[in-house]
Amino acid sequence: MSEPIDCVIIGAGPAGLVAALYLLRFRRSVLIAERGDSRATMIPRSHNYPGFPEGIGGLDLLRRLQRQMLPYGKPEWGGEVLGLEADGHDWRVIFKGRLVHARTVLLATGVRDRWPQLLDAQAALQQGVLRFCPICDGFEAINKRVAVIGDGDHAAREALFLRRYSPSVTLLSDGGDLSAAMAVDLRQAGVAVEATRQGSLRFAGGAVWASDPQGRDLDPFDAVYGALGVDPQTRLLASLDLALDAGGCAIVDGHQRLSRPGLYAAGDVVRGLNQISVAVGEAAIAATAIHNALRERAVDLT
Ligand SMILES: Cc1cc2nc3c(=O)[nH]c(=O)nc-3n(C[C@H](O)[C@H](O)[C@H](O)COP(=O)(O)OP(=O)(O)OC[C@H]3O[C@@H](n4cnc5c(N)ncnc54)[C@H](O)[C@@H]3O)c2cc1C
Repeated sequence: MSEPIDCVIIGAGPAGLVAALYLLRFRRSVLIAERGDSRATMIPRSHNYPGFPEGIGGLDLLRRLQRQMLPYGKPEWGGEVLGLEADGHDWRVIFKGRLVHARTVLLATGVRDRWPQLLDAQAALQQGVLRFCPICDGFEAINKRVAVIGDGDHAAREALFLRRYSPSVTLLSDGGDLSAAMAVDLRQAGVAVEATRQGSLRFAGGAVWASDPQGRDLDPFDAVYGALGVDPQTRLLASLDLALDAGGCAIVDGHQRLSRPGLYAAGDVVRGLNQISVAVGEAAIAATAIHNALRERAVDLT
């Protein structure tokens, strides 16, 4: 049987690719598994990722990260991972029709956004009208007519956050789960709360349109934030009996270790701020911890 791979990295977003860069430079063998749906591919242009004063598109960033690792080695690539099983000190990583033995596994699988029901949502996303991350692009909403789609206090908090950027912020909600205290905060901050007719949201002419329950059009919105939550991609941990936090994210220690030896996690899949700079920072920590753990196991250059 061939030697196990030093690390199978599950995910080719910023976290997975930066971990691969570090591990290749540590002269480790790496397999990168991916499904092709990094959240970064949804970023038309990021203005808060350090080092790019003119901003950078998400796809461009991913391509640059892939290129950056090339001088240091050639990772193997694989598709979707279907399962993980312990194998002594090592791990069996299960792909469709293929089994890979790995000394360590890094979960960099990210989260999936819950999309609002919006006709032509993809076009709205590409044109920067549909958004998901006020921390990322609230600044680009200054003085625009902004809407936040979602129910409850989570969506209301996003609306309040965005109020710093625009005097015109509307929470498009059916009113469910909004606490009385939050309703007061919204009123005091001048955030409007509007009910919308189910299925009425549509993207046309560079703006998002919505109707009230009686079918009357509201004034169109220049920027609309989906605030319906995210689903952390932790399905692979389910069969391993690993605890998740209240938001369904992986729980790690200061070295990005999960509670089973040889398993690590980095990026959005871990609790915390869902930002590229956080993902790449965690990836650097995880890759260094993986390299040092393998050195302790005397898995070194032969
Ligand atoms: C519209 C939008 C704009 C944003 N703008 C910014 C911004 O300006 N600045 C900023 O800092 N952040 C921004 N973000 C957030 C940023 O995209 C994420 O923080 C970042 O992509 C997280 O990186 P990650 O590597 O943890 O996860 P991801 O980039 O989501 O990558 C996850 C990877 O895991 C793979 N995967 C998942 N499950 C499996 C499996 N079972 N098998 C194999 N592969 C699997 C996926 O295919 C993917 O390759 C934005 C997000 C969105 C949606």
